[in-house]
Amino acid sequence: MLAIPSSIITNMIAHARELAPHECCGILSGTEHTIADAYRITNILAALSEQDLTRFDGAKLTDLQRLSPEERADIAFQMDAREMAMAQRDIRSKGLDLLGFYHSHTFSPARPSQTDITIAMEFESYRAKLHLPEPFHLIVSLEHSDQPSIRAYRIRESQPTEVPIHTLP
Ligand SMILES: [Zn+2]
Repeated sequence: MLAIPSSIITNMIAHARELAPHECCGILSGTEHTIADAYRITNILAALSEQDLTRFDGAKLTDLQRLSPEERADIAFQMDAREMAMAQRDIRSKGLDLLGFYHSHTFSPARPSQTDITIAMEFESYRAKLHLPEPFHLIVSLEHSDQPSIRAYRIRESQPTEVPIHTLP
């Protein structure tokens, strides 16, 4: 179970709507199974030039090059590293943990895509070295725009497992 204050759920849905059709992204602080705060992070994929894209490799690059910048941000996200570092510093200064990541799916359900799973596994590969707890991965879906949904997952060995969300008043 993951406990999230209703104000943070409202905030994540508002963020998703503001950025649509692009995907929004952010990180979540807290302790153990309770979220304390959300940090909005810029999705830099929309602003990348062709030259920036050469930093990506393999299949992801081929996929991304075929798309316009707007389309790229619709299907994927990459968090601004500097903003992430600043948020992590703030989280540590409050004695909290980096507990999760969230992003939006504008036109698809709140389930991790193959790219989401790959990104989660990349994070897993260096997480222990950073002494960070296992994160929750949250997805806000605007597929049914009048009824946004949020789901949380643990992703272990490329297998997502849904974690029920308990909304705190
Ligand atoms: Zn996704």
